[in-house]
Amino acid sequence: MTDLHRLSIRELSEGLKTAQFSSRELTEHYLKRIAQIDPKVKSYVTVTAEQALAEANAADAALKAGNAHTLAGIPLAHKDIFCTQGIKTTAGSKMLDNFISPYDATVVAKAKAAGLVTLGKVNMDEFAMGSTSENSYVGATSNPWALDHVPGGSSGGSAAAVAADLAPIATGTDTGGSIRQPASFCGLTGLKPTYGRVSRFGMIAYASSLDQGGPMARSAEDCAYLMNVIAGHDAKDSTSINKAVDDYVANLNGTAVKGLRIGIPKQYFNVAGLDADVKARVEESLKKLEEMGAILVEIDLNMTEAYVPTYYLIAPAEASSNLSRFDGVRYGYRCENPVDLMDLYKRSRSEGFGAEVQRRILIGTYALSAGYYDAYYVKAQKVRRLIQQDFLKAFENVDVIAAPSAPTTAYKIGANLSPTEMYLGDIYTLAVNLAGLPAINAPVGFDKDSLPVGLQLIGNYWSESQLLSIVHQYQQNTDWHTKRAAIAEENA
Ligand code: GLN
Repeated sequence: MTDLHRLSIRELSEGLKTAQFSSRELTEHYLKRIAQIDPKVKSYVTVTAEQALAEANAADAALKAGNAHTLAGIPLAHKDIFCTQGIKTTAGSKMLDNFISPYDATVVAKAKAAGLVTLGKVNMDEFAMGSTSENSYVGATSNPWALDHVPGGSSGGSAAAVAADLAPIATGTDTGGSIRQPASFCGLTGLKPTYGRVSRFGMIAYASSLDQGGPMARSAEDCAYLMNVIAGHDAKDSTSINKAVDDYVANLNGTAVKGLRIGIPKQYFNVAGLDADVKARVEESLKKLEEMGAILVEIDLNMTEAYVPTYYLIAPAEASSNLSRFDGVRYGYRCENPVDLMDLYKRSRSEGFGAEVQRRILIGTYALSAGYYDAYYVKAQKVRRLIQQDFLKAFENVDVIAAPSAPTTAYKIGANLSPTEMYLGDIYTLAVNLAGLPAINAPVGFDKDSLPVGLQLIGNYWSESQLLSIVHQYQQNTDWHTKRAAIAEENA
């Protein structure tokens, strides 16, 4: 079979169960595609072919014995921020270029337990700081829709791998948009769950009060299958919430779009940098949802201007603390011939961290320093609460809130935006993390350069099923999620 990579997760699951193909064949098919096509996309940092084939054989045995999980034998790629026992986990950093974790992240362990086959680890901005994946120590990943463009970030490798059909699904993480924005840039569906829904154990920390893992895939249905595996309470993560998990697949038709109240924040559609094509596609998608029975309600989100400054204070502050563990002593990179301990710390960190990571450590350390702490960090925390309250007030009147996922489509590789220009590109995604809410990106068409545009739907706490269900129904009535980049149509 040459077109196994075109099958959805449900079709793959059925095909494996009914022995139309084996996990071994499926895995070999993907490994062959990776070998031939990934040199152009550069989404993988590490391909774990040997382990993948062993896992595929085990899945085939379980399938034969009739005791396999729904997803047994289906391949996936993990963002290189999830610790994988015995396999390098770099977080896109020279600092961790030689780091092999002694344990699996909970997300990885759950995927393994379900019999999913790990194809490898995919590229990302260093320590998840960035929006292009260019901040990776190993270099940039290409957007499958236009190879001279970025796939977005920080989960750019995850997005590019799925969009080029080099993995049917992937894990990502989202601290301020890193699942939704690359999903938007690459024409995919990506879900950022409620803070605490997916365990952060073994997920290398960027900003711990904002970080959340989630699925990236072609469709809401595919995302639902992966959510069923990775969501849930974990005693090893004290911020993971002990609350019953939905059956995201069974609930796909659970929310009626008919009568659904969708809030359209006035402030969001007047943002200066909002691209005309992005605006038009998002508005068309809302029109479609309206035709399907949704009610569009204009709302106010008055704190919009505070999103970027608040996030870019809190996230670097937490990062400066989290990244202090990388000191050249316990983990990863160590400078050559240190003259004393201070020299070891300083040079290991200066040589091991890239420019953007160093910028954030500096900003964060400054914001947390005695004398500035109240003026910056404490103030930002207060504004964070106001941003959350703004959303909660909006949810008294609407079921979900619509927005673009990003104000533009994918940038050119090397566009070299200034840090502030880059940060402003995160305007639509940051507040969701500050408030801890779930949100989803769905592909809704293309701009004049044939680059994908994404619609973001933000839900109230624990509304993952509702968000997946809305997008699923939208996808039953449209075909944007079925469009494939030319490179994905290439047969290996
Ligand atoms: N682009 C944002 C940042 O650089 C968000 C990244 C993320 O979600 N990990 O911080």
